[in-house]
Amino acid sequence: MKVKLIDLYSQYSTIQNEIDSAIQNVIRDSAYINGPFNEKFEREFASYIGVRHCIGVANGTDALYIALRSLGIGPGDEIITAANTFIATSEAIQLTGARAVFVDCNPTLYTIDPKKIERAITPRTKAIIPVHLYGHPANMDEISSLAKKNNLMIIEDVAQAHGAEYKGKKVGTFGIISCFSFFPGKNLGAYGDGGAIVTDDDELAVKTRMCANHGRRGKYEHEFEGVNSRLDGIQAAILSVKLPYLDSWIERKKAIASLYTQELQDIVETPLIDEDVRHAFHLYVIRAKQRDELRTYLSENGIDTGIHYPTPLPFLPAYKYRNHRYDEFPVCVQLKDEILSLPLYSEMTDEQIYWITYHIKKFYGKN
Ligand SMILES: *Cc1c(COP(=O)(O)O)cnc(C)c1O
Repeated sequence: MKVKLIDLYSQYSTIQNEIDSAIQNVIRDSAYINGPFNEKFEREFASYIGVRHCIGVANGTDALYIALRSLGIGPGDEIITAANTFIATSEAIQLTGARAVFVDCNPTLYTIDPKKIERAITPRTKAIIPVHLYGHPANMDEISSLAKKNNLMIIEDVAQAHGAEYKGKKVGTFGIISCFSFFPGKNLGAYGDGGAIVTDDDELAVKTRMCANHGRRGKYEHEFEGVNSRLDGIQAAILSVKLPYLDSWIERKKAIASLYTQELQDIVETPLIDEDVRHAFHLYVIRAKQRDELRTYLSENGIDTGIHYPTPLPFLPAYKYRNHRYDEFPVCVQLKDEILSLPLYSEMTDEQIYWITYHIKKFYGKN
């Protein structure tokens, strides 16, 4: 039996007719850019998250960049974010001319550690970007109170956590602005690149929409230099088809995660879930001894796995110039050699899950 890390085609098969006709409708109406399909999806997604405004953009990295620019972030500013996120988060910060300041993560939940955020705050700090990594919400109570105490903005990176909740409230509603990615493998994925900015702030909604569309208000009234970063109509129509299924997909992924945990908790470190959160399970990440050998063994048995991420951002070649030391980020440094993402997608069968857990047990001699 072969098991992929994620099988996008199997999800498409369950909604093929709806998707195919949604794509045909966009072509029939030639509504490729900023048309009615975009307006419809933006309305639906804002309502799903529980915010006033949603602005579709070309991808999640642009969502972060446009959000930061619209908040006036630029050279001389420092923005705090997680050391163990995807590079898009820090790229967007650095693109504005500001400096990304990396902070280590919590050893059991893997989200940014609020105690370490406090130590990273300087007079230049303008904002914190918590990342709801793997679909697990960051500790928004502590981050919000730190932000309030130090007069910092919160911009949420929700690229991995569509539908996750913290104390009964959806993530994406805690920051002044929040950024989503619809990269195909994300919990809500398009059939190409896509992203969105959400906010309750009317003025920011106008600014970000203009920034994403050449700084224009009217057709050729460019009030400032923006960028070209729009969600295209075909992607918007596809996302409108998929959104109503998102909660049931998350519920299935949660059930798969419970089954994994039930089978594996005595053998490897299985993911913990904080009280009062709804984990969206973008990824199911274990910590395993002899991780690389286990990964090879699973691969030899047809089971794909991933590592999210093999190198914490401060130690990537892109940030070599900063000369960070391992002892500045002890938790991420330890995690990088132990984390392993197991296959997870809502169409997986229980049989596949038992096949995977059987092999993990076998590897450790625990059958
Ligand atoms: C995927 C991702 C992004 C960027 O999204 P793209 O749509 O690929 O540009 C940003 N942050 C995190 C944490 C991500 O996982």
